[in-house]
Amino acid sequence: MEVAVVAIGTELLLGQIVDSNSARIGQMLAANGFSSHLQLKVGDNHERIVAALELALHDADAVITSGGLGPTQDDITREAIAEVAHRPLREDAGVRAVIEDLFAQRGRPMSANNYRQALVPEGATVIAQRKGTAPGLVVPVGEKVIFALPGVPYELDDMLANEVLAELRARRRDDTVIRSRVLRTWGIGESRLAELMAPRFEELEGSNITIAFLASGIEGVKVRFTVSTTDVDEAIALLDHEEGQARRLLGDAIFGVDDDTLESVVAQLALTQGVSVAVAESLTGGMVASQLVRVPGASRWFLGGIVSYASAVKEELLGVTTSTVVSEEAACSMAEGVARLLGSELGASTTGVAGPEIIEDQPVGTVWIGMSYRGRSAARKVQLLGDRERIRTYATATALDLVRLTLSGSARGFGLVGLNSDS
Ligand code: ATP
Ligand code: MG
Repeated sequence: MEVAVVAIGTELLLGQIVDSNSARIGQMLAANGFSSHLQLKVGDNHERIVAALELALHDADAVITSGGLGPTQDDITREAIAEVAHRPLREDAGVRAVIEDLFAQRGRPMSANNYRQALVPEGATVIAQRKGTAPGLVVPVGEKVIFALPGVPYELDDMLANEVLAELRARRRDDTVIRSRVLRTWGIGESRLAELMAPRFEELEGSNITIAFLASGIEGVKVRFTVSTTDVDEAIALLDHEEGQARRLLGDAIFGVDDDTLESVVAQLALTQGVSVAVAESLTGGMVASQLVRVPGASRWFLGGIVSYASAVKEELLGVTTSTVVSEEAACSMAEGVARLLGSELGASTTGVAGPEIIEDQPVGTVWIGMSYRGRSAARKVQLLGDRERIRTYATATALDLVRLTLSGSARGFGLVGLNSDS
């Protein structure tokens, strides 16, 4: 089942609006196992919309359009679809009644244009306008079908998730079950991940399981497995097996699954192990604490943080004695200091050069993450790239990841045996 997407609206071509609808439709199709290899954008011009629809219909079994269903003169999608489907437009009494009702409720007069929204190609079905005034349309074209959805994203979303998906499933005429699982990783680049996964990749060639790598910036690299089969239990068993294989190859670079985040995993570990956490932050200025408190119930394990930005605060409050504040020693002292002051079992710290100026002759992006855990401490240096904002966000994620690795007792964490392992 191949589905093409046509986004309609001159404002999309002019870049006045970013075409988020096509992205949304693309996500929904992929998540539900429908192939989609063509997305078009076309302005509010009758001939061009007709041409775009014909092109899309040529390749695909179904076409989803967005936009141009409104009451104004430039909303001409229904006329174009009527032409492509060779079906005349007729007024739909039901749609007309709903529109009249809406206007009556709002106490507003209806203009002649509003009645255009009640025009429906003969033989088409209407997707009720639950939220806006534009109904959606399901228009058969021979064996194929066009779904016309309104441009307003939340109206489109609603119809997509309900009627369109149901109709596409019914038309697929098979009992295919598609299930995906996303493994979340941090600390290994996309190409290295692909290299590590290469053996699995080769074994799965031509099977009903696909692997995709999604480099997702601050969210790390995601590894997504998609299984296509006819039985839900079988799909889940296959995904479990793949997850096991991936964990064997990638180890604890995998921090979570699907909706897990670094902070949610830290929360889970801290909670189950009964470990309290505090943070001392310099270049991240509270971002680590802010991420941690995104998790509901964080007060059960997160005690608080100190933003020790000025050297004097690092020294007087946290007990940093070294004169170089971007250093292993300073990071350790900060982590120890905050754990002592707040009475936590784990203290984490960040100190580094966010830029644009260099500090203490150290290049921009030099970051030390310190960790004090149950009375022992260590620090690790990472060299980050990018502008000030990027360095600060990546330092935050790196700190969260090291807290995770420390709590899970991983060898990739500090192990808190020796000091300072560069990696
Ligand atoms: P309405 O009945 O509200 O006029 P419509 O179906 O005619 O809906 P358009 O007039 O094309 O839709 O677009 C309405 C609004 O929806 C636009 O002003 C824009 O804000 C948003 N929109 C339209 N198309 C897209 C798109 N492809 N991606 C994101 N937003 C869009
Ligand atoms: Mg409109």
